[in-house]
Amino acid sequence: SAKASGKRQWCQYQPALQAGLAERHELNESLDSAISESAFTLYYQPIVDLAGGGLVAFEALVRWPHARRGMVPPEEFIALAEESGQIVPLGAWVLEHAAAETTRWQRTSLAPRAVRGRAPLHVSVNVSARQFRDAGFVDVVREIIDTSGIQPDSLILELTESILMRRDDRVRADMATLSDLGVRIAIDDFGTGYSSLSYLREFPISLLKIDKSFIDGLGVSQQQYALVEGITRIADTLGVQVIAEGIETTAQRDLLAAMGCPLGQGYLFAQPLTVEQAGALVREDAALVGLPERDRS
Ligand code: C2E
Ligand code: MG
Ligand code: MG
Ligand code: MG
Repeated sequence: SAKASGKRQWCQYQPALQAGLAERHELNESLDSAISESAFTLYYQPIVDLAGGGLVAFEALVRWPHARRGMVPPEEFIALAEESGQIVPLGAWVLEHAAAETTRWQRTSLAPRAVRGRAPLHVSVNVSARQFRDAGFVDVVREIIDTSGIQPDSLILELTESILMRRDDRVRADMATLSDLGVRIAIDDFGTGYSSLSYLREFPISLLKIDKSFIDGLGVSQQQYALVEGITRIADTLGVQVIAEGIETTAQRDLLAAMGCPLGQGYLFAQPLTVEQAGALVREDAALVGLPERDRS
């Protein structure tokens, strides 16, 4: 897939899911020690305002620096961690660190952003189905809000459609609780699963992330364009903000901006950044690659 090929440049080992049982066992054990040693790293990919060009949020993306395997991307270990339940402590680690880092960044950027009439920097964190269904999840979020001091409405939780499709009462109640706390909920990879626009009125959804596979077809297929435009328009009517994922060309960016899609993310603007690079961008947030000249200051 396009997603997989984009990663091949920096990972050249056997994918975990194709590995044998012994190797999976070994990977589970080393995931265990990585979890207890907090041996993970977060990268941060900018989410930008497509009309004005500014930095709106970062999506936190986990990586596992592994002695023998190098920088292991999430697709090599998230599924395993979900199967084993290790995603629960791993996911809590990700949330805790993303919230703490963002709170630090907000302190350096709040005043200048306010002067320009912009909201504080947001952070968007991926939450897996198993993690969300864990009985302690809402308490973990509450605790992280308390300890990091992050404004709840600066925190976005990215859920996948698989969580919503069961129409489970507990899921519904937990989403209501989170929403009452002020936390914002996004549907990730919209269009790849059991997509239903009715989720947007059934659940307290603030944001919709349109999957890269739809963005790839913009400017190539009239139907794809119409689909993305339609989703954007309906979402807007329901007060849901759209984020276009995987924007790689200026043509895609321009088409999205023209149809009124408010937010975007992709290699055109920036790859996922190290914490140092992300911090530098916060200080210099007009310097994003791919922005029109007039938007740089
Ligand atoms: P996602 O949440 O849909 O994240 C977007 C993925 O697309 C990221 O891959 C990002 O690097 C990649 N991407 C962004 N822009 C472009 C682009 O323009 N072109 C291409 N080809 N790719 C782009 P990454 O970081 O490898 O993450 C893969 C997936 O792993 C994520 O997909 C998410 O589902 C999962 N993941 C990452 N971090 C976490 C985490 O902390 N917890 C959980 N549960 N899942 C995570
Ligand atoms: Mg995501
Ligand atoms: Mg996504
Ligand atoms: Mg994904």
